[in-house]
Amino acid sequence: MTMNNDIERVLYSEADIAAAAQRIGAQLAYDYAGKTPILLSVLKGAILWTVDVMRAMDEYAEIEFIDVSSYHGGVESAGSIELRTDLTTDVKGRDIIILEDIVDTGRTLKYMIELLEQRGAASIKVASLLDKKEGRVVEIDVDYIGFDVPNEFVVGYGLDYKDLYRNLPYVGVLKPEVYTAEDSATLNGQD
Ligand code: 5GP
Ligand code: MG
Ligand code: MG
Repeated sequence: MTMNNDIERVLYSEADIAAAAQRIGAQLAYDYAGKTPILLSVLKGAILWTVDVMRAMDEYAEIEFIDVSSYHGGVESAGSIELRTDLTTDVKGRDIIILEDIVDTGRTLKYMIELLEQRGAASIKVASLLDKKEGRVVEIDVDYIGFDVPNEFVVGYGLDYKDLYRNLPYVGVLKPEVYTAEDSATLNGQD
């Protein structure tokens, strides 16, 4: 048994994602020319997206991490936000680019943006691999978008189900039988 066998279909291939990372990395290099922004990677989902975008960005930049969690292992958003790991540098007066795997309800992003604003960041933009616009609960815009994703639960390329599948090189949808009974109830429209 391999992880691949659990995938029903691939939404974005390795090549699709590589092209998106190149496009956004180049755009960021252009938009932040001479500015030395902080690339703020959101653990753990944005790790692969971070390394691909940062390598495609030919401009001085610092890398920081934050772990803010709203999902607790399953497929349904918990609604409350927890700051698990804070970044280790002062953001006062700095230009921040938040690197996210996916923006769904927007709650996680709103929490981080408010935190960075309180700390006096000069500017805050968001570069997300995926934008699930249909899932939005709070008003939040994503500045740089890899792909607009349909309202489905996706895994791979950093995105997990129960902390697995992050190491798949592509983004896909799991076979229904992979989910626990409890999670399938949520997926089948109770949400
Ligand atoms: P939000 O606060 O915008 O609802 O949720 C953002 C976080 O929820 C993402 O960073 C991600 O960890 C998780 N999330 C939202 N949609 C999905 C999805 O389709 N698949 C996975 N694996 N995680 C998701
Ligand atoms: Mg995330
Ligand atoms: Mg998760």
